[in-house]
Amino acid sequence: MTINKFIEELSKINIKLSEKQLSELEEYYNLLIETNEEFNLTSITKKEDVYLKHFYDSLTIIKAYDLTKPLKICDIGTGAGFPGLVLKIVFPNIEVTLLDALEKRIKFLNKIIQKLNLNNIKAIHERAEIYSKNNKEQFDIVTSRAVAKTNILLELGSQLIKVNGYAIFLKANIDDELEASKHAIKELGFNLENTVKFKLPKEESTRTIVVLKKISKTKNKYPREFNKIKKSPL
Ligand code: SAM
Repeated sequence: MTINKFIEELSKINIKLSEKQLSELEEYYNLLIETNEEFNLTSITKKEDVYLKHFYDSLTIIKAYDLTKPLKICDIGTGAGFPGLVLKIVFPNIEVTLLDALEKRIKFLNKIIQKLNLNNIKAIHERAEIYSKNNKEQFDIVTSRAVAKTNILLELGSQLIKVNGYAIFLKANIDDELEASKHAIKELGFNLENTVKFKLPKEESTRTIVVLKKISKTKNKYPREFNKIKKSPL
């Protein structure tokens, strides 16, 4: 998507970017491509594709949740910063923790955070299931895109979320996956509040935003060790 189309599509979801935010996204794109030559951060490199499949896609979360208020968000398995870093650039009011198990991704994120001089954002090199043990109920929202199936993802991140907070996952087409996650959702103290389905502009692929509300404390035994989560998912 061209920059003009990006701006036009964002205005349809009530996002208006300042010149500063547009230039921050441009710098983000440039550093992503430069660093990608050294470390593999993304297979999507064409500018129009990055703006559509990374930047715009990350921001569609606004279709499901109002991000214009002060919020503490943790983005699990953020990779090169999707959606967490894009959200921070566009909604500076949110406090963001970017979490990833791969150190080279965290190094890249710290470079871009420094370059753009962003405040109230940190990038942490840690596995979500370990980080969540030491940071219980610290966040209003946990986001995640393209990391794991809903039942696994929810176990990884459920402890991080305050009661009455949300897990918001950016997914493709997931009807079967949600059906298979019913037990995990209940067992971890959540309720499926909403799913927002739409097509990504231009390429028309299906997207689903899953909104899960934490309605009670998650039992202390969760998350289990990753090999147990993987071997016998809830
Ligand atoms: N969210 C980004 C996106 O949508 O482009 C990256 C997706 S990438 C396919 C999955 C990322 O999740 C990788 O960077 C990987 O290191 C990270 N990851 C997988 N399991 C994780 C875990 N248990 N804790 C933290 N990060 C994890």
